[in-house]
Amino acid sequence: MDKTKYIFVTGGVTSSLGKGIIAASLGKLLQARGFRVTNQKLDPYINVNSGTLNPHEHGECFVTVDGHEADLDLGHYERFLGVETRKANNVTTGRIYQSVIDKERRGDYLGKTVQVVPHITDEIKRNIKSLGSKGEFDFVITEIGGTVGDIESLPYIESVRQLRWELGKNSLIIHLTYVPYLSAANELKTKPTQHSVKTLQEQGVQPDILILRTEYNINTEIRKKVALFCNVEPHAVMQSIDVPSIYRVPLNMQQEKLDEVALKKLGYDLTQVPPVKMDKWIDFVDRLENAKEEVRIALVGKYVQLPDAYKSIIESLIQATAYNNRKLKLELILSDKLNNENIQKKLAKMDGILVTPGFGTRGVEGKICALQYARENDIPCLGIGLGMQAMAIEFARNVLDLKDANSTEMDATTAHNVIDIMYEQKNILELKGGMRLGSYQCSILPGTKAFEIYNSPSIYERHRHRYEFNNKYKEALEKAGMICSGYNEESNLVEIIELKNKKWYIGVQFHPEYRSTVVNPHPLFISFIEAIITK
Ligand code: GLN
Repeated sequence: MDKTKYIFVTGGVTSSLGKGIIAASLGKLLQARGFRVTNQKLDPYINVNSGTLNPHEHGECFVTVDGHEADLDLGHYERFLGVETRKANNVTTGRIYQSVIDKERRGDYLGKTVQVVPHITDEIKRNIKSLGSKGEFDFVITEIGGTVGDIESLPYIESVRQLRWELGKNSLIIHLTYVPYLSAANELKTKPTQHSVKTLQEQGVQPDILILRTEYNINTEIRKKVALFCNVEPHAVMQSIDVPSIYRVPLNMQQEKLDEVALKKLGYDLTQVPPVKMDKWIDFVDRLENAKEEVRIALVGKYVQLPDAYKSIIESLIQATAYNNRKLKLELILSDKLNNENIQKKLAKMDGILVTPGFGTRGVEGKICALQYARENDIPCLGIGLGMQAMAIEFARNVLDLKDANSTEMDATTAHNVIDIMYEQKNILELKGGMRLGSYQCSILPGTKAFEIYNSPSIYERHRHRYEFNNKYKEALEKAGMICSGYNEESNLVEIIELKNKKWYIGVQFHPEYRSTVVNPHPLFISFIEAIITK
């Protein structure tokens, strides 16, 4: 049993069924039996990566250690498995085409007509198999984005069909569908599932396991009926019922025997496979579900209508509050509307304030306003990315009395006399291709809050930004009570700032949220919540 196995997860009926969570849950269960697992996401859109996608439409852009701007599902994979993903874990149609067109221009196809089948499908298959080719993983779980029947998904489903043929017993296909409940008929309806499986079969793909998303329990009779209509064994028809927290899903899927059925179908003898060990996970879910005392956190940002835009930050907060046996009460506050008149009303009841990352000018003044309130009232406060930049600007404006302090990113609105607290360091950006992306080293000054939190003189965190703290103002800001407690050695860049004599007031240029996992919540978030509860 040494060959890499490939598991494909497709979806039907509607989007947003939580394919990513199911794929991550299966990954977790297999990992909890001692297997080495990686999850991959194939996205059917033409964008080359997620960097240019509007967070309002598509949720947050996740960043991998190797600097890839990825779909937010990679965040679920990392939070569930605690294993880093890379560029190869997220492939888009745009990237597939780009690579095929590059090859065509280079003459690699030797005059052949370049077509969807076989050239695009070969490129898709190459991207899937490349994850398993080094023998690093026992399982590669590939989630196909979109819904079967979509025009965009066709080449991916076709690639799965071909791979199934090539890999035979070493592959498995899981199809996730939705079973709606009709209250007028008092019935759960399986017809959409039957149609969805038919669509898949028309494309030559027969699923091995069906997972039915549902709001109500699905009885054996319905499962048998689905099995019969869809050519799937009855014990391979499972339900995934609505749960208050996504972190319950792996435990529910274990009850449905998802891992067992998958392993058996892939030829494993279950008596030879170690049992599932999920103690730490169960301990986390227990804390999450049993915590009573609330912690109220304001999340100040400009995309608050779609909380997915701040997915990793919100999950990090959930993990850190559960870790501290507290329940998170999150208030999403639109920064655009914040000003000195309403700030008291909006933030007075908050135990902690988190000022979010972001790009562009919208909502920045509101963030600065929230930060001034947090600083003056000594409310524990975490600034991430633009949130940290706004901390430096607020401090310069209101403590150093540099009223024109700003970031050059905001030039359009403050065209004259801007005091560039944050600015583009052209030499660094040219080197990095326009943005500092991915994992960078950060040294931490002993004796600071940051040092106490990380308990290490050198760390690595992930970045995604263009503007940097301007060292020209470092001395003045430090004299006034700011500590630049973290800095990148290689390029002499300030990465962490904190304030003296405050309960907890820390800004980080990087994104700690990408490193927080269920089993290891990030120390910065843990410490932020600790500061709030030890009043
Ligand atoms: N827009 C800012 C920059 O490019 C901050 C980005 C961020 O929040 N990560 O530097």
